[in-house]
Amino acid sequence: MTDWVADEKQYVFQNYGRQPIVLERGEGTRVWDSEGKEYLDFVGGLAVNVLGHASPVVADALAAQSRELIHTSNLFYTTPMIQLAKLLVENSCLDRVFFCNSGTEAIEACIKLARRWGFDTRDGAYEIIATENGFHGRTIGALAATGTARYREPFEPLPAGFHHVPWNSIDAIKAATNEKTVAVLIEPIQGEGGVNMPAPGYLQGIREWCDEKKLLLIFDEIQTGIGRTGTLWAYEQEGVEPDIMALAKGLAGGVPIGAMLAREEIAKHLVPGDHGTTFGANPLATATGFATLSHIIDTKLPAQAARASQRLVARLRSIEDRLPDVTEVRGRGLLLAVQFSRDCSVEVVAAARMRGLLVNNVRPNAVRMMPPLNVSDDEIDRASDILEDAIRSVLAPAK
Ligand SMILES: *Cc1c(COP(=O)(O)O)cnc(C)c1O
Repeated sequence: MTDWVADEKQYVFQNYGRQPIVLERGEGTRVWDSEGKEYLDFVGGLAVNVLGHASPVVADALAAQSRELIHTSNLFYTTPMIQLAKLLVENSCLDRVFFCNSGTEAIEACIKLARRWGFDTRDGAYEIIATENGFHGRTIGALAATGTARYREPFEPLPAGFHHVPWNSIDAIKAATNEKTVAVLIEPIQGEGGVNMPAPGYLQGIREWCDEKKLLLIFDEIQTGIGRTGTLWAYEQEGVEPDIMALAKGLAGGVPIGAMLAREEIAKHLVPGDHGTTFGANPLATATGFATLSHIIDTKLPAQAARASQRLVARLRSIEDRLPDVTEVRGRGLLLAVQFSRDCSVEVVAAARMRGLLVNNVRPNAVRMMPPLNVSDDEIDRASDILEDAIRSVLAPAK
């Protein structure tokens, strides 16, 4: 029998810390490994698998489109990308869509659009204010915006003009603003940074400051979008609308895709020759995205995710009540984190996995849960029981 783990260690770049299981098959919230062991998947492909594994909605769209047209290039019109763009515009506060293939690429597009707008209308302003612990991707431009020095430093020098300010401080944004500032780039809830919630009024305060200083407000909804927080977009619950928004992750139910949305007055500054990508807007990804997003909207999945969240949060809070070493449950919708009194998330993740639950150690002292939007009550209950058992085994081992 092939030793897949040994072969991975020999042939694949060792830039990921993988869990020691080989996943082969999935259905809904469940996955099976190469030894036939079943797991509840509360990693959800890092917020990508919004409809779960092997969803017929995703699989049927993918199969049907693959028999029609997979790729043409943007030298031609194709219908799926126009349908998906229309659906996104009709269901958001923004007017136009640019498609690409990943989150980091969506952020690169946002940075270029902001700079292009600054070049045309703000006397060449180009600086972008982002937040400490914010995550925007790994390509050089998106990395410059990412607020974790450890991710950036080995790759310096990075493009100039990015400032990182502490999360939840409007004063810090004001202090970092100068005549060269063109935009504020921020996640409505910090995802990779540890599921960090915005303080009440924080995003509204940023919106007001951006209006006052003629700055663009760019929301990175790559993780928070597509129903993840209980509404289609996280900004809806904050009473704040961005000028530009980046999407990716769940947009096509697992097929690689990214998108930038913007208001018309800004979008019009990107003209032929300014930006593009060969695979972007390809029929395969956009047809699957159209099927996925239509299904999410038609079946009111964001509201279902909000109800599932109430159940999951209640279960996690009861664990918090019983176990003093669980110090916080935070997040919104099905983007949740459980924090511990010490750095034990790696051990908790391993203990949960051995008991049949997959979660992610988003911080040394916190695990993150991002199940599909259609996770069932029974799966939530079972996952909570397993997590509690796993935490007990790590934090309060039986004598
Ligand atoms: C995942 C993520 C990205 C990067 O997306 P990739 O598809 O991995 O490039 C950017 N921003 C946020 C908020 C993310 O969660």
